[in-house]
Amino acid sequence: MNRAPGCIFCQIASKEKPARLLYEDNDCIVFEDINPKAPVHVLVVPRKHIPTLNDGTQEDEALLGRLLRIAARAAREKGLSGFRTVINTNAEAGQTIFHLHVHVMGGRTMRWPPG
Ligand code: 5GP
Ligand code: ZN
Repeated sequence: MNRAPGCIFCQIASKEKPARLLYEDNDCIVFEDINPKAPVHVLVVPRKHIPTLNDGTQEDEALLGRLLRIAARAAREKGLSGFRTVINTNAEAGQTIFHLHVHVMGGRTMRWPPG
């Protein structure tokens, strides 16, 4: 599996770094955000090190679709019917970890538009 040295999410995916895991399979891992911005805030992360959404290729299409299905299931398992999914791309959008991930947030009223 493509991974990047020093990447926190690659380290979580390989269990070198602990996280509160909710789900994992051969393609992805789901864990609690360490600094939650909502009562429910989980991250859906592919094992493959794709830095940003700009770096997804045609071969990643099934994986990217799978992340969204797993995000919906993670929300359901957290008891949410409504929730916010976010992918921040690059620093100007607030991305701080350069390993693609989908935020799933809920448990409070989400404002729109986001800041
Ligand atoms: P971004 O800002 O890149 O869209 O989101 C990165 C998210 O990862 C942030 O919400 C941040 O709280 C979370 N995060 C950063 N480092 C860690 C970590 O070591 N463990 C966990 N569980 N979450 C982290
Ligand atoms: Zn990584």
